[in-house]
Amino acid sequence: LLRAEGVWKNYHGHHVLRGVDLDVAAHEVVCLIGASGSGKSTLLRCVNLLETVDDGAIWLDGAEITDPGADPDRVRRDIGMVFQSYNLFPHMTVLENITLAPVQVYRRKRDEAEQRAMELLKRFGLADKAREYPDRLSGGQQQRVAVVRAMACDPRLLLLDEVTSALDPELVTEVMGIIRELKEGGMTMILATHEMGFARDIADTVCFLDQGVLLERGPAEQIFTEPAEPRTREFLQRVL
Ligand code: ATP
Ligand code: MG
Repeated sequence: LLRAEGVWKNYHGHHVLRGVDLDVAAHEVVCLIGASGSGKSTLLRCVNLLETVDDGAIWLDGAEITDPGADPDRVRRDIGMVFQSYNLFPHMTVLENITLAPVQVYRRKRDEAEQRAMELLKRFGLADKAREYPDRLSGGQQQRVAVVRAMACDPRLLLLDEVTSALDPELVTEVMGIIRELKEGGMTMILATHEMGFARDIADTVCFLDQGVLLERGPAEQIFTEPAEPRTREFLQRVL
């Protein structure tokens, strides 16, 4: 579904991504792990075209999204993203937050967009919150709304960047629960996470990033039990 080849990204001469190759199959869940600053967020931002790549290319279903002629709105409809800070608009209700992009950017009919939003809210146990403003919700609920908002355009791929790290521990589980539910529904996802237990549990494939290099990838179980690279082993010993 997604292929990245030789992706380089520099900030002021500092190489943040150094020739990253990544393949994600339909329905696959890929977790990016690695130390702070290793480039996980930057890689997700490149896939979502929030950053331009300095070299290399990224394809979604065979179409190059890093081509200068590609339509970023179109790409972001196909590739949804959820951030650590949920970034809901405080002056809009939950329902307005969710239907904003489908209606304003993708010209869907409002009643259809609202119907789709309500379906998703129901599925994630938030139907009674549709008319609330974000500040009336718990952090976990806000983050679940942010996931619903990303799903409202029916993306083919969902990117999740540390979606649990701003939450109190007891709220982490409910957000993990909806990610698990999305996986069961066959959603293709790339997650950057510091929660190794969650990565091990949910990932089909784990990728270890080390200073901008995708050093090792493999089935979750293998990476966590017998990583091939000494640096992966060191990292896991430090964080587990
Ligand atoms: P964390 O686990 O802390 O979220 P990360 O793996 O997501 O880390 P990135 O956010 O991708 O790491 O950052 C990689 C490197 O790129 C860091 O050294 C960071 O300082 C740098 N960087 C990221 N964004 C920018 C930017 N907009 N301008 C300059 N440098 C940046
Ligand atoms: Mg990050």
